[in-house]
Amino acid sequence: MNRKNGEHGKIAVLGAGLAGLRAADVLSESGLNVLIIEKEAQPGGLATTIQQKGFYFDLGPHRFHTESSRILQFVEELLPGELLELQRLSRIRLLDRYFQYPLSFGDVLKKMPLLRSAGFLLSYFTERLKGIFASGEKRSFRGWVISRFGKKLYDLYFGPYTEKLWGCPADELSADWASQRITVPKLTDMVRATISPRKNSARSLVSKFHYPMGGIGRISDALADRVSARGCSFMYSSFLNSIKPLPAGGYSLSVNGDDIKVDGIVSTIPVTEYTTLIGNMVPVEIHNCSKKLNYRAIVFLVLQLKTRIRANDHWIYIPEGKYLFNRISIPGNFDPEIAESNPQMVFEFTCMVDDDIWSGDLDLQESAITGGVDLGLFHRHDVVGSTLARKAHAYPIYSLDYAENVSAVLDALDKLECSVTSGRQGLFRYNNMDHSLEMGEYAALELLGQGRVRQRFDWTRQTWADG
Ligand SMILES: Cc1cc2nc3c(=O)[nH]c(=O)nc-3n(C[C@H](O)[C@H](O)[C@H](O)COP(=O)(O)OP(=O)(O)OC[C@H]3O[C@@H](n4cnc5c(N)ncnc54)[C@H](O)[C@@H]3O)c2cc1C
Repeated sequence: MNRKNGEHGKIAVLGAGLAGLRAADVLSESGLNVLIIEKEAQPGGLATTIQQKGFYFDLGPHRFHTESSRILQFVEELLPGELLELQRLSRIRLLDRYFQYPLSFGDVLKKMPLLRSAGFLLSYFTERLKGIFASGEKRSFRGWVISRFGKKLYDLYFGPYTEKLWGCPADELSADWASQRITVPKLTDMVRATISPRKNSARSLVSKFHYPMGGIGRISDALADRVSARGCSFMYSSFLNSIKPLPAGGYSLSVNGDDIKVDGIVSTIPVTEYTTLIGNMVPVEIHNCSKKLNYRAIVFLVLQLKTRIRANDHWIYIPEGKYLFNRISIPGNFDPEIAESNPQMVFEFTCMVDDDIWSGDLDLQESAITGGVDLGLFHRHDVVGSTLARKAHAYPIYSLDYAENVSAVLDALDKLECSVTSGRQGLFRYNNMDHSLEMGEYAALELLGQGRVRQRFDWTRQTWADG
């Protein structure tokens, strides 16, 4: 493929999330004419701050953290002097008490009755011993976690939380999700926790993080302003119907019923949608692989309250099945500006598009109010209003066979001339914002003939953040 074809032409960037915006940034810096096509009415994708009718919230808790000083500097330059540095507080609410997040054995032993604690330890050491003598079933999320934490802790926390988040049995999920995100306790730490449970020996996952004043969406807003000032154009609230190859090279995009000709494409929309849009540019087998990939959706129910919320947490995990939501976040604890003036709580209900949660058949407002009151976070009479936001593509689902299907689809898409797929949705990668910024940059460079996203991106990077 001659990716350099696009060098002096017009490039379409599909999706105005962080990956798409960063791709547009790099392409426009190289002097290309960039058109960004976005289905929503604003930029930001998952990293958007919604400000409407007195509501002000991110789509679930978003903290900016990166191990790359280059990416941090990039964001600092976008928002000079506007990044707050915050100390993370996030906990797990279980059995009417709070546990540290990430869950630590020392903390569990400290807060649980002696007999139950002994059960957790016995179960942990049994699994570790089993691991020495037999390889066991570790391909699934369930097998992976049990072999590292023991069955009792799995049954208490990891299993119920995971099954609520993903809506399927945890033995149908790939161990990849666990290995990318969960810190395993060292045997030495465990022995220490057993001898002295009051000392906390767990490694804390990213205790400090950055947050832009005014909401996480400020990063994408600043990036959108910058590319727009450089001459990139945006088509918001726009719908792609098809993408067809042109005989002389490049593509014809059908958008809102109009045909737009471009020399190259960076797609950051869900890879499943991109595959459908390009139709017979890839064989039927690839469409079959793509159809086996799916995303988990989220409905965000936001309650506006008349008093300050009685918790300092940035977010709280709620594994128990009696609550329909799996996490709560408190925007005022991220941005002190709104803590007093506009107290709000965001409840996340993960779901599949078109199930009872997504469709609105279930009364999510009532579920959030009853749950919040039961958790002691506010009184029913404190609630003054509510609103909803939905995201159909929140989490790529790492089913047992996802990796083979993703590779088949990405390999086929790699063969298309002047077309690059990238970002969380485009690479079907459960990632963080800093990763998406990098993926966007690498996608633009790929189109300019400078390496490949899939080779440049460090796939061993773990997702310490919480989305
Ligand atoms: C609940 C939650 C919490 C998170 N918390 C954190 C956190 O604390 N820290 C962190 O670093 N990361 C977090 N993340 C991850 C982070 O939000 C994402 O990794 C990042 O924002 C993804 O950016 P992206 O551009 O790759 O994808 P997206 O943001 O999904 O952008 C894709 C864009 O494509 C658009 N699009 C889709 N289909 C079409 C179409 N057919 N036509 C045109 N446009 C289309 C979408 O509207 C969207 O704007 C969280 C994610 C979630 C869901």
